[in-house]
Amino acid sequence: MTVMLQNKRVVSLVAEHPEIYVQKCLRTALDEIRKNIVDGWIEKPEDIPSTDKIIDRAEKLVNDGLRNKLTRSVNAAGVILHTGLGRAPLAPAAQNALQEAASRYCILATERETGKRGDRNRHNEELLCEITGAEAALIVNNNSAAVMLALNTFAKDKESIVSRGELVEIGGAFRVPDVMRRSQTIMVEVGTTNKTHLRDYREAITEETAILLKVHTSNYRIEGFHKEVSVKEMSELAHEHGLTVVMDIGSGALVDIRRWNLAYEPTVPEAVADGADIITFSGDKMVGGPQAGIIVGKKECVDKMKRNPLMRAFRCGKLTHSALNGTLRLFLDADKLPETHPVYEMIAAPLDVVKKRAQRINRRIKAEFKDRIKTEIRDSHTEMGSGSLPARGVPTKAVAVAIDGFTAERLARDLRMAEPPVFSRIEDERVIFDARTVADEEVPWLIKALKDVFA
Ligand SMILES: *Cc1c(COP(=O)(O)O)cnc(C)c1O
Repeated sequence: MTVMLQNKRVVSLVAEHPEIYVQKCLRTALDEIRKNIVDGWIEKPEDIPSTDKIIDRAEKLVNDGLRNKLTRSVNAAGVILHTGLGRAPLAPAAQNALQEAASRYCILATERETGKRGDRNRHNEELLCEITGAEAALIVNNNSAAVMLALNTFAKDKESIVSRGELVEIGGAFRVPDVMRRSQTIMVEVGTTNKTHLRDYREAITEETAILLKVHTSNYRIEGFHKEVSVKEMSELAHEHGLTVVMDIGSGALVDIRRWNLAYEPTVPEAVADGADIITFSGDKMVGGPQAGIIVGKKECVDKMKRNPLMRAFRCGKLTHSALNGTLRLFLDADKLPETHPVYEMIAAPLDVVKKRAQRINRRIKAEFKDRIKTEIRDSHTEMGSGSLPARGVPTKAVAVAIDGFTAERLARDLRMAEPPVFSRIEDERVIFDARTVADEEVPWLIKALKDVFA
């Protein structure tokens, strides 16, 4: 080890990296060799790796260990809001706002006029009120926190009435009955899986009722014999009895996405207009911002939530508030979203634009790899992801690739292990690159990843 530390290459490694970390990696590289000797993988002395080889290994360990771990990745999987890949890519405006707030100090929770402590929500509250028509707004860590905060604020130890058709599970960890229990509200189920009527809610109201809860079943759809009660009807009934209507709208469409030929998703402004007292949604689904829970609604109700002691545990820092601010501003000009916001650019891209990109990917692969890679352009569907737009993807064009001697699973894995990693999708035993979720500047990275696969 001491000899190693005097080696010229190690000295220059130490000059650039923390010394104790370099030593640790050298020790790991040596331990690996010792283990290989003990396990019988190395039998003859001449098979013991040279000093240079050992330093190669240590250098790799140092570089792997000290680089940014949240590697930028190419999303060719065709899931726009891919939770595993960090959900929404941020708009340039959001990146700039984030950069400005992150670099030094910002006025997050200070009133400039008085120099006193101010409400950190105010920066986004005004924008959210403008966009949704609500009276007040509040930002928390994610939509799950928003729902818990709402239930706990208005219905702790009281009853919350919810339709059996809306007791959904979102992404494994968020299950409406569990969230209700944890929020310390008493769940009262009404109706059936497929049909719930207004009278079901009316008959369930007691002295102990505090909330009528509506959950947007954003990740599944009931076809056929189906009835749910609208927010408007629920609000009228609730307000006759002095109750609070909480709507978990989940995906949080701020604009009607039918303008881009997508299927209808209920919008936040509609829920506000229909009289819901509190509406909660995610900042990183259809809003396409940072992970956050957004709460909008009646001022009196939002103020009450702001005063809940849980708020201290749920509040966000400057990174979230600034990135959200940069994102929300874009919704003031919804027509321009396909130009200003990458999520809407992907959603709204006409099929012939996507097709041209697929053809370009295909040509580049053919030019680079000749007949070593078999390709074909196919019709497919891009998914919105994160439980938005269930079972109704956006039509897309994809490049299917196959390499002799590779199963689709193996190829997909090797592409994930490339630098930068490429995430693809497997469709009938073929690896698919969805051209809708790959940015033009990422096309060379697909080629690079395929080269890495052969290397
Ligand atoms: C996604 C979703 C949630 C959970 O939101 P997170 O921001 O992921 O915590 C809750 N409710 C509904 C209806 C959702 O769609």
